Amino acid sequence: MSAEDIMEEVRPSVRSFAEKEVIPVAGDLDRRNQEIPMDILRKMAELGYMGIIFPTDYGGSGLNHQAMVVVAEELSRAWLSVGSIMTRSLITGTLILANGTEEQKREWLPKIATGEILTAAAFTEPNHGSDTASFECRATPAKGGWSLNGQKTWCTLANRASILTVLARTDPDPSKKHKGLSMLLAAKKPGDGFEPPHLTGEHIPHIGYRGMKCYSLSFEDFFVPGENLIGLQTNRGFYQLMATYETARIQTAARAVGVGQAALEAALKYAKQRTQFGKPIHEHQVIRHKLAEMAARVEAARQLTYYAARMKDSGKRCDLEAGMAKVIATEMVETVTREAVQIHGGYGYSEEFDVQRYWRDGKVFSLFEGTTEIQMDVIGKRLMEK
Ligand SMILES: Cc1cc2nc3c(=O)[nH]c(=O)nc-3n(C[C@H](O)[C@H](O)[C@H](O)COP(=O)(O)OP(=O)(O)OC[C@H]3O[C@@H](n4cnc5c(N)ncnc54)[C@H](O)[C@@H]3O)c2cc1C
Repeated sequence: MSAEDIMEEVRPSVRSFAEKEVIPVAGDLDRRNQEIPMDILRKMAELGYMGIIFPTDYGGSGLNHQAMVVVAEELSRAWLSVGSIMTRSLITGTLILANGTEEQKREWLPKIATGEILTAAAFTEPNHGSDTASFECRATPAKGGWSLNGQKTWCTLANRASILTVLARTDPDPSKKHKGLSMLLAAKKPGDGFEPPHLTGEHIPHIGYRGMKCYSLSFEDFFVPGENLIGLQTNRGFYQLMATYETARIQTAARAVGVGQAALEAALKYAKQRTQFGKPIHEHQVIRHKLAEMAARVEAARQLTYYAARMKDSGKRCDLEAGMAKVIATEMVETVTREAVQIHGGYGYSEEFDVQRYWRDGKVFSLFEGTTEIQMDVIGKRLMEK
């Protein structure tokens, strides 16, 4: 079966799941600031989305990146939070798959792929976000493992996760920068209460992306067993994380395409329904041209994302294309969601319509998975290298 066939085979089932289970509840849950219901999570796991690209030998679905982008796109078209919950499993799973020992792969991947456990990425710190190399959270040797001390922030899903994937400093010399960081799997009990005094968490209220809660975390002598150091290698964490960037950026671009598509569809529908000056508003050329530009932007971002996914599946290096897809899709989603609100006029600003949710959700893409400024810098440097 060709890659295109796989994509088109996957799309109807994920769209049907999203339309039946997610779209009917997304707007209301977002308005009430509620988390994604566990029932939706369980169904996503049953459909194999949590481990979509992991090999079947490790409990995954064994599909390719092109299938992954279709799933991310369709789920995000319904609700960005749902399209994003699998991102955490993909990041931790890809880290283990690319860098873990065989034992670590056998231990963790099936649990992640089947949704038995959820994971969260604890990288960002209060004083260091983009500047990963300056992270200060420390892991010091302790009997049988490591002791974590320090702060992390913006850790999405930290409450529901059983594993926090923590990038911590194992070489005490700060001048070692990124060469002194290691990746640890910190196991915790899922639940809002955390584990004081060793692990405490503060919820961070935020304006969109509301189906998952984000937390600032504080570790105090939090014990991580030695076998939970990824690859059993110290000071390789930064490089291990880099091995996940292509997949993460492609999946993030696909999520932006999904939100952009939802906004475009909402605007098309409204432009047909709403009449002003005696005719549907799409018959005013300005609105028609807005819609044309929105559709062109969504399609351009989609095709660049698919291209990056195809490159990844063919085994070629695609950090440049993945980064470009993320930048273009981010720019697209901000423009398209803003224009969708505009086409709705005042109603676009009310909670009655979903476009305001797409607009709030769409803003997050320029901030996470590498800010747009950082992405641009990385792309520019790679171009100069070529
Ligand atoms: C909703 C949400 C969920 C998140 N989830 C997670 C998560 O699960 N796990 C996690 O670890 N993190 C998460 N993050 C954090 C996110 O990855 C960071 O916010 C991001 O890395 C940027 O870091 P910062 O916020 O500290 O901004 P800073 O790095 O302080 O940047 C501030 C501004 O300066 C710019 N800037 C910084 N350095 C440069 C430079 N060298 N050149 C030009 N411009 C620069 C940035 O682009 C930005 O505009 C999440 C963030 C949000 C908003």
